[in-house]
Amino acid sequence: MKINIIGGGPAGMYFAILMKRADAAHDITVYERNGPDDTFGWGVVFSGKTLANLSAADEESHAEVTRSFAAWDNVDVVHRGEKISIHGNSFSGIARLQLLKILQRRCKQLGIELLFRTEVADIEALRTNCDLLVAADGVNSTARKQYAGKFGPSLDYRPNRYIWFGTNKLFHGLTLTFLENETGVFAAHSYKFNQTTSTFIIECDPQTWDAAGFATMNDEETRQYLEKVFAKDLAGQPLLSNNSKWLNFLLVKNANWSFENAVLLGDALHTAHFSIGSGTKLALEDAIALFDCFNKQASLRGALEEFETTHKPVIEAYQAAAQDSMRWFENARDYMNLSPIELAYSLMTRSGRVDREDLKRRDPKFIARYEAERNAYTGTAGVPPANGTRSH
Ligand SMILES: Cc1cc2nc3c(=O)[nH]c(=O)nc-3n(C[C@H](O)[C@H](O)[C@H](O)COP(=O)(O)OP(=O)(O)OC[C@H]3O[C@@H](n4cnc5c(N)ncnc54)[C@H](O)[C@@H]3O)c2cc1C
Repeated sequence: MKINIIGGGPAGMYFAILMKRADAAHDITVYERNGPDDTFGWGVVFSGKTLANLSAADEESHAEVTRSFAAWDNVDVVHRGEKISIHGNSFSGIARLQLLKILQRRCKQLGIELLFRTEVADIEALRTNCDLLVAADGVNSTARKQYAGKFGPSLDYRPNRYIWFGTNKLFHGLTLTFLENETGVFAAHSYKFNQTTSTFIIECDPQTWDAAGFATMNDEETRQYLEKVFAKDLAGQPLLSNNSKWLNFLLVKNANWSFENAVLLGDALHTAHFSIGSGTKLALEDAIALFDCFNKQASLRGALEEFETTHKPVIEAYQAAAQDSMRWFENARDYMNLSPIELAYSLMTRSGRVDREDLKRRDPKFIARYEAERNAYTGTAGVPPANGTRSH
């Protein structure tokens, strides 16, 4: 099969790897507008389950990825300066660039053609010149735009603003820090992804963003302002910018995932709020799911239809959980009157995917402390708090 792939991100390269290792006769070309060392962003996070999927799909790249990992089992919630740790979770982080380099090496090893600094302008020409066109061209996908009549995309720009920074302050665990100042509420999502660097994403609602006056600040003023807000948590370390800019999270869905010989993959196909896990994990799992469909189905259309039938419900469930999580962060100011332990409980159960029993299994000490404090306050046992209703 001749396969053209637009986008040398995790989705495009990983799909290329799985197809080529299954059948060396496939003629696969990946078109990437950037150079092999250009990248944006800092670290990406995977859960233990994603790693098991990667191991089953391609042990060679999995082994390299896990060698480079920073792993941890705690989620730390910092509120009113108090840190609450919840253990028993399983996450790992790796630099995005390092992950891309591992996938690039694996592509080359297998004989996949990677064309860097190659912007695809004429998508239709590429599509008609192959058996399968994979549009893995990211959240602002040109292919999705060009074939909007076929894919039926829905694009929802969410109200909160967020910005990605790095820092040399090491956060050993997924750390969620809440800070109130005179302008409103800021939340930081941070985690270490190698021996020297952590990702530090800052999010705030539109009221806070307006009140702080970010509209009139340049990039450097914005960085300095946020560095001051989180000065204590950063322990004197600067925020590191990588052309960091405020973004509105874009929720992407598509009514149809493919037409004729073209299919969307990764961020081009769907997004899920970064508070519930990384887009990279979903991009890699998409590639595995699409590859599995080519394994099961003899015809190209059969494989693309099976991909949508079997994987869409999985993504919809994930997006629903991510939506609850995203809404929690969009309404974060309503939770600021909770005590630190109550806030941590509310946060851990926000997506509906984790309940009290799960938390008790993962970290009995956390639940014991939560219930002891709650009982001391109400005199009743085992009742989770109504979100955002109490203050200690
Ligand atoms: C500013 C920013 C920072 C981020 N940082 C992080 C982070 O630190 N950690 C994290 O987990 N996630 C991060 N993400 C999210 C993460 O990058 C994605 O969820 C994930 O990479 C999705 O993989 P993908 O392969 O679908 O898309 P992408 O990784 O976006 O890859 C798409 C690729 O297609 C290429 N491309 C697009 N159009 C064309 C074209 N016409 N011709 C040729 N090439 C094209 C792009 O250059 C890109 O390399 C970040 C996102 C943004 C917007």
